[in-house]
Amino acid sequence: MTVLICGAGISGLTLGLSLHQIGVPFRIIEAIAELRPLGFGINLQPHAVRELYDLGLEAGLDAAGIPTAEIAYFNAKGQKIWDEPRGIAAGYAWPQYSIHRGALQMLLHNTLLKRCGPKAILGGAKVSEWYETPHGIEVVLTDHAVGAELGRERGSVLVACDGVQSTIRSTIFPEQGQANLRRSMMWRGLVRGKRFLDGRTMTISGAKGAKFVAYPVADSGKEGSLINWIADIDKPMDRDFTRQDWSRRGKVSDVLPTFADWHFDWLDIPELIASTEAVWEYPMLDRDPLPRWTDGRIALMGDSAHAMYPIGSNGASQGILDARVLARELRDHGETPEALVAYEEVRRDPVNEIILANRQQGPDVVLDAVAELAPDGFDDIDAVLPEAERRELAERYKQATGLGVEEINAKPAILGPVGH
Ligand SMILES: Cc1cc2nc3c(=O)[nH]c(=O)nc-3n(C[C@H](O)[C@H](O)[C@H](O)COP(=O)(O)OP(=O)(O)OC[C@H]3O[C@@H](n4cnc5c(N)ncnc54)[C@H](O)[C@@H]3O)c2cc1C
Repeated sequence: MTVLICGAGISGLTLGLSLHQIGVPFRIIEAIAELRPLGFGINLQPHAVRELYDLGLEAGLDAAGIPTAEIAYFNAKGQKIWDEPRGIAAGYAWPQYSIHRGALQMLLHNTLLKRCGPKAILGGAKVSEWYETPHGIEVVLTDHAVGAELGRERGSVLVACDGVQSTIRSTIFPEQGQANLRRSMMWRGLVRGKRFLDGRTMTISGAKGAKFVAYPVADSGKEGSLINWIADIDKPMDRDFTRQDWSRRGKVSDVLPTFADWHFDWLDIPELIASTEAVWEYPMLDRDPLPRWTDGRIALMGDSAHAMYPIGSNGASQGILDARVLARELRDHGETPEALVAYEEVRRDPVNEIILANRQQGPDVVLDAVAELAPDGFDDIDAVLPEAERRELAERYKQATGLGVEEINAKPAILGPVGH
């Protein structure tokens, strides 16, 4: 039989590659007819990078992304509050990558097509209905553009990798309703600019209310970087939070006034914003942790199972880990509901914890603490919040979300490398 995967995002494509690795037949059904490299920067944590390396994607990640060396937090005046190494520099056995989401998706997509052939993905087809049969599951496909029925596919199980607006999740859990909105809007931009700091640092400045994230996602030659930025503004005037669409355009003028005087000596934020050609907006949202991720022959995965606030660089990484664990359980238990339950038992509770940790601001909490204690800036950060307390705030999130260096380095591989 065939494992049916709904959605060719980061989670669905990783699952496809993982099933190919262990020889389990699969088909990915994707609503979009032709994938394009959409989105902005994302970060991959070392445990997820290890899984992509095991899939043979080390060279591809190196070519497409930046191995992040450091994360640094600043107040709204650009004064440094905290910094710490990341990835290899922090002692992990694998790097952390900052990478364009679309570049990662295309890397996974192209690798999958090369290894499995074009029939592995059916594009332009939306999973609109599904029925359990005595020995499997049947899905009804409709044309994403015109809505006409395209036919049916039969498989052993259905894995919902259909993202934050998952139809499958909302059908299984109709009581979940709308996403939780923090009434905070995130504007995103990508711009070529001068390399800042060491060219490998992720920066987060400001505090709740107005926060600015900037980091390079690729080198763009001659001292330059492709810089990803996110301007996160709480309760902005006149925004429509109900339009949760990744391709919704925003305007530079929506963002610039809030950050007009953020001219830091290490980065000129108004200049960065003003030099950005296209800006997109997307509301900050998550969904409540679910009591279960499976329903008979259906399993939820990635954002469909656990959409979380984009704080702490965990969203895409958790989808990758989901995919590897589910592939292992399908190998060990066969293409059965038992395999889906075994996957859920490993993944659900720890990932639900991350959703809750991100609601408490994750590691960004240090910014709010310092903004409250020293709203006008400081001469000596240690006099505002001693180093031990800043470290404690950073460590607390890592421990709550399974990102401790020793913990990650000591874990056995989920599936091991391709070809072994
Ligand atoms: C276009 C786009 C841009 C994004 N940009 C960013 C970004 O800049 N920063 C960030 O942090 N996160 C972004 N995300 C979200 C990010 O990709 C996820 O948080 C994370 O990578 C987990 O991915 P996922 O595979 O679970 O879901 P997604 O990456 O959201 O993928 C879901 C896939 O399922 C497909 N799909 C949905 N419904 C159906 C259906 N009924 N039938 C068939 N296919 C279906 C969608 O077309 C999509 O390709 C973006 C998502 C999308 C879709």
